[in-house]
Amino acid sequence: MRNPIRKRILVTGGAGFLGSHLCERLLADGHDVLCVDNFFTGTKDNIVHLIGNPHFEALRHDVTFPLYVEVDEIYNLACPASPIHYQFDPVQTTKTSVHGAINMLGLAKRIKAKIFQASTSEVYGDPKVHPQPEDYWGHVNPVGLRSCYDEGKRCAETLFFDYRRQHNLRIKVARIFNTYGPRMHPNDGRVVSNFIVQALNGKPITIYGDGRQTRSFCYVDDLIEGFVRLMNTPDDFTGPVNLGNPGEFTIRELAEKVIAMTGSKSKLVFKSLPSDDPMQRCPDIALAKQQFGWEPAIDLGSGLTKTIAYFRSLSRP
Ligand code: NAD
Ligand code: UDP
Repeated sequence: MRNPIRKRILVTGGAGFLGSHLCERLLADGHDVLCVDNFFTGTKDNIVHLIGNPHFEALRHDVTFPLYVEVDEIYNLACPASPIHYQFDPVQTTKTSVHGAINMLGLAKRIKAKIFQASTSEVYGDPKVHPQPEDYWGHVNPVGLRSCYDEGKRCAETLFFDYRRQHNLRIKVARIFNTYGPRMHPNDGRVVSNFIVQALNGKPITIYGDGRQTRSFCYVDDLIEGFVRLMNTPDDFTGPVNLGNPGEFTIRELAEKVIAMTGSKSKLVFKSLPSDDPMQRCPDIALAKQQFGWEPAIDLGSGLTKTIAYFRSLSRP
């Protein structure tokens, strides 16, 4: 007989940065985990330490195609997340968000599973309200270079809420703000990994624009705790709910912090700002605090220490 506490949980995008940490956490909590990934940006290296665990299974599959499995819960994370990767094949990015959501929602409906969506702060676009609460509808360019990702994720949210209204599905929608930590892809162009890799290699630190744009950086362990708590809220709480660290830093401050912490001799260089790059971004996390008592515990300095140690270990032979 199956242990009733042990749930069968599907994680799409499970071989990616966040997905691999989530698989680890769910296994540690005593569940059976099915990791589904097409390995576009994810890698087997991220999950190699889990292979061999009898409660873990990895399946190569693209979520734009239907999937027939039997599980109790679904975390839908499949989607490239860094601008370089999601702009590489923008049509596939939109398909992954939209067809992927339809397929996973269809699966959840058939098997009556609870389903979580990894949405994003990008649904707020270049925000005119600061910090961003969940009831802000955003300021998004529908036809720009970031639109495949932003609008794909917005449409996925729409689908989640329509499946809820039409089919009474149990849904949980998290709007994730910039998250960093070990297993970020070293070449995916995101700011934290870029700056650390550049600093460790003594290469110039590339600041896009004047570096006065802001971001709020959440350490991965804090975020994963938020995922699990949100998934376990009562069925009448659906979100959308912001998950991120409200500590706000300019990109220049981040660069200076990384240089100081790595002891690097790298100099700052200024490059042009990519189009539609949001000027400021900071989550209002009052709803997460109130609904499931969540707030980040790891400050930027402590999180960067762990992340720098990870990137140093990659460069060792
Ligand atoms: P990631 O690129 O490391 O992981 C995404 C994973 O999805 C990869 O393993 C990739 O191979 C897989 N994937 C992509 N397309 C797929 C498809 N069609 N079928 C199956 N698998 C597919 O990125 P991440 O940072 O781990 O992001 C995970 C999720 O969280 C994404 O949905 C992303 O939009 C969301 N998110 C992340 C952040 C962040 O700061 N990391 C912020 C906001 C939202
Ligand atoms: N950025 C930068 N230098 C880099 C990479 C990114 O100045 O080498 C800037 C980028 O223009 C943006 C911020 O850092 O303003 C965060 O970029 P990232 O790609 O990490 O995430 P997003 O723009 O999706 O928040």
